[in-house]
Amino acid sequence: MKSKSMRFRWMSNLKKWVVNNLCCVLRKKNKKRERCEDMENVGNECGVMTDFQSIDLRAITSTGPSYSGQADLETEMAKLKLQDLLIVSPLGAGGFGRVILVQERYGSNKTYALKILSKQHIVANDHQKWVLNEKNMMAELKSDFIVRLHRTFKDDEHLYMLMEPCLGGELLTLLRVEKNLSNTAAKFYTACIVEAFSFMHSRGIIHRDLKPENVLLDTRGYAKLIDFGMAKKVIPGKLTHTMCGTAFYIAPEVVLKQGHNTAADIWSLGALVFEMLSGSSLFADKNNNALQTCYNILQGINDVVFPNEISKMAEDFIRKLCRNNPVNRLSVEEIRMHGWFNGFQWEDLQDKTMEPPFTPKVESSADTSNFNCENFPEEVDYPHIDDVTSWDPDF
Ligand code: AMP
Repeated sequence: MKSKSMRFRWMSNLKKWVVNNLCCVLRKKNKKRERCEDMENVGNECGVMTDFQSIDLRAITSTGPSYSGQADLETEMAKLKLQDLLIVSPLGAGGFGRVILVQERYGSNKTYALKILSKQHIVANDHQKWVLNEKNMMAELKSDFIVRLHRTFKDDEHLYMLMEPCLGGELLTLLRVEKNLSNTAAKFYTACIVEAFSFMHSRGIIHRDLKPENVLLDTRGYAKLIDFGMAKKVIPGKLTHTMCGTAFYIAPEVVLKQGHNTAADIWSLGALVFEMLSGSSLFADKNNNALQTCYNILQGINDVVFPNEISKMAEDFIRKLCRNNPVNRLSVEEIRMHGWFNGFQWEDLQDKTMEPPFTPKVESSADTSNFNCENFPEEVDYPHIDDVTSWDPDF
């Protein structure tokens, strides 16, 4: 009798915890998907430019370069000042800030993606740790398959991250248009992500938020990973316990807070490959019920019936990425050797001599037509907080 009531209490606590955590992530995801749906109807009417023109660029001081990349690029970037940049157009908004396309005012008309973070917003939401984390992670990750952070700037009100622009748009947008991708296309994007993971995982860094929104296409059509706000460096052999990520792609060990490592990214990759090939989410509940989505994840992949458009080889691949026990999931090396990649020329991908399956329509280095700017958020006015903690000296 006693154990029955304990079990009931335990179940109801688990239910509460799951609802609390997952409702929040699902709401965020749905909002972003709605934004993308709007994009198909609205095009690229960026009516919010004036908000950015109010930023006083003259007042901005710059810090030194944030990482040592190739010497010439580093020198070029070190010389660049924020007031040398002109605002072109908004690109998107994430949890921590807004991203706009900017262009060099003098000489070349080179463009960059500039992430603008309000210090007041960061402090008010206690996001200091996450923002510094993103900057530090990106500064370390210099791979062709990860968006480069060129340098950072700051002034009294804002922090700025100057990144390479990826003007081909989000993978999510491509999935919305195409519904589901061919094996060749899905293989290509998967391989780009695997290259990014190979680089990160070998340095002990877990991304923890792989999803179609966080994969951008460059002008050639190569995929690159963005958004390292949730990334985490873990000592080999150790686990980390924070529950984070986006509901449809979270691994069961993350949901259960059992501790996770780089294998959590591999699970998310499995969910993403399924979505690319079928056009539907692997674990999402059809009625968007957060609790049910969570149960689906914990239930695992064994009982999932795969749709016909996914070949047996691709099915085997996805099942091995989404094995319940993280230890049994494929490693990056095993992924490269899997039958689904038979005949795939990894060296050509790494050298970037492989022809991408889809070339985005990008007219110029200032063309943002692959991004939805319609619902671009205005900067929120936060009441001034006297922040004396000096938490951002390295920015
Ligand atoms: P984030 O805050 O990193 O999640 O970025 C918010 C949004 O800005 C993304 O979903 C992209 O649409 C856009 N974005 C971020 N970084 C870039 C970039 N390097 N090039 C083009 N667009 C970007």
